[in-house]
Amino acid sequence: MPEESLQTACRQHLTKHLIHTAFYVRIKIKNMTVDEKMKLVIDLAEKSLGTNELPIACIIFHNDTIIAQAYTSENADKRLLVHAEIKALLELDQKKLGIKEKAQMELYTNLEPCMMCLGAAISSFVGKVYYSLDAPSDGAAKWAEKT
Ligand SMILES: [Zn+2]
Repeated sequence: MPEESLQTACRQHLTKHLIHTAFYVRIKIKNMTVDEKMKLVIDLAEKSLGTNELPIACIIFHNDTIIAQAYTSENADKRLLVHAEIKALLELDQKKLGIKEKAQMELYTNLEPCMMCLGAAISSFVGKVYYSLDAPSDGAAKWAEKT
C-alpha cells in the first residue's frame, strides 16, 4: 500500500474512532430525562409487538444505567405471573443489593403496574415508580396513593 494511501486510511480510522469516542462520552455524561427513559421502555415494549404478547415492558434504572429490563411474556411462557415488572424486579433481586442501593433505583413501565407488581416494587425497596399509561381495570397506583 502506498504511504499516502496508508496515511489516508489511518486518518479515516482515527477520525471514525474519535467520533465514536465523542459520542460515547456524550452519552455517558448525559443525564436522561424521565421522557427519554420512558422512550427506552416503549422501544422495548414494541419488540413484543407481533408476538401475541401485550406490549408491556419495564426497565429499572440507577441514574442512567439500566440495571434490569424485561417485557411481559404470558403467552410465550404460558404463565400468568410473568409481568414485565415482576421479571425485572426478580432480575434486580438477584443482584443482592442493599436497601440503600435499591432505594436509588427507578422502575419505569409503560402501563400502570398491577397490585402484584406494585407490591413487589414496594417490597423490593425501589425508590420510584414511573408509568406512562393508566390501567383502569387493574392499575394499583390509586391504592398506593391512599397509603
Ligand atoms: Zn403486574
